[in-house]
Amino acid sequence: MLDAQALKGDFPIFANNPGLVFLDSAASSQKPRAVIEAISRYYEHDHANVHRGAYALSERATEAYETARRQMARFLGAQPDEIVFVRNATEALNLTAYAWGLEHLRSGDEILLTEMEHHANLVPWQLLARRSGARIRAVPFTKEGRLDLDAFAAMLTDRTRVFGLTQMSNVLGTVNPVAELAAAARERGALVVVDGAQGAPHLPVRVSELNADFYALSGHKMLGPTGAGVLWGRREALADLPPFLGGGNMIEEVTIERSSYAPPPQRFEAGTPAIAEAIGLGAAADYLMALGMENVWEHDRALLEYALERLAEVPDLHLYGPRGEDRGGVVAFNLGSLHPHDLASALDQAGVAVRSGHHCAQPLHRRLGVAASARASFYVYNTREDVERLLQALKEARRFFASWM
Ligand code: PMP
Repeated sequence: MLDAQALKGDFPIFANNPGLVFLDSAASSQKPRAVIEAISRYYEHDHANVHRGAYALSERATEAYETARRQMARFLGAQPDEIVFVRNATEALNLTAYAWGLEHLRSGDEILLTEMEHHANLVPWQLLARRSGARIRAVPFTKEGRLDLDAFAAMLTDRTRVFGLTQMSNVLGTVNPVAELAAAARERGALVVVDGAQGAPHLPVRVSELNADFYALSGHKMLGPTGAGVLWGRREALADLPPFLGGGNMIEEVTIERSSYAPPPQRFEAGTPAIAEAIGLGAAADYLMALGMENVWEHDRALLEYALERLAEVPDLHLYGPRGEDRGGVVAFNLGSLHPHDLASALDQAGVAVRSGHHCAQPLHRRLGVAASARASFYVYNTREDVERLLQALKEARRFFASWM
């Protein structure tokens, strides 16, 4: 079990904001001192451009950057040459959609997604569908908040060229049975793209066991800095993938007319990468591995169950998402007919930070029959006391807004 109260001490944001109850880690997590210091140390001791200089400083910078790649490989149960550094999950998904889609998608093809996708795993495919004439279909979810597996089975056909799904919903918290669905999709010959933006921070992930071709994550949601994310690709899938961005660092030989490309992962890292950010992300992966991802998940689950039990005390509070083991530490809710922005502002007055809005998941909210929701999300530094503070703040908000509801 994690000692979340003790872990708070590793995160300077809490000492600098006494009394803060931070329940918005699904949007972006806070950063431990180990990550902040890894970035400072790199800039103070080792910075130069990577993969270029023949001098010692540049070799040290390159070594630090490549160490980060190995740390992320270990975190995901992958090989270092399967790890492509990108800015965030959005870029990883766009890279996949463009590089693979422009080459392979044709009119009449189908792109199968789900109705619980974040816009980052919808819009890039829409752009590709427009260019190629392919059609997008989306697996609905049940009123409990789980993917409708019968609908999936019916929608997966020989026309399905891509199946894209989130490992864990950023609104419902649902953890999808990725390995099972991915195996079925790959059997039909579809490329499987997993959005791990919420999965990677919370679940023990061995990408090799997911039956996927590509897996996207954002470092800033897993204790790392903004500006560094990862696209993992199965070695053969990456080898077949043409480049997305062209420029320095990703080529073997260039003439005026044409170029040959470096092997992965360099082929997908054109230009100077976010070196310090990747190093910070490597430090975040080490921090999480030291905690143990099984423990992180167990902590998430325990806090979620406690929150669901306590929040049931609040009259007029409508909670979304499934009940069960397949649910991570995310609770989206609405209080009566109150606008979630008003609710979030009221909670903020009590020092409780939650997100409100559509959380970049408009089709999901449409299926729930609401325009927006408020969302509390938990991470390693959240405690039962944080949940209590949320509960008290919700009860106060309900009293305050009683006449508007
Ligand atoms: N997918 C999911 C499920 C997410 O929750 C998010 C972030 N809210 C993203 C993708 C996009 O992440 P980023 O903005 O860091 O690219």
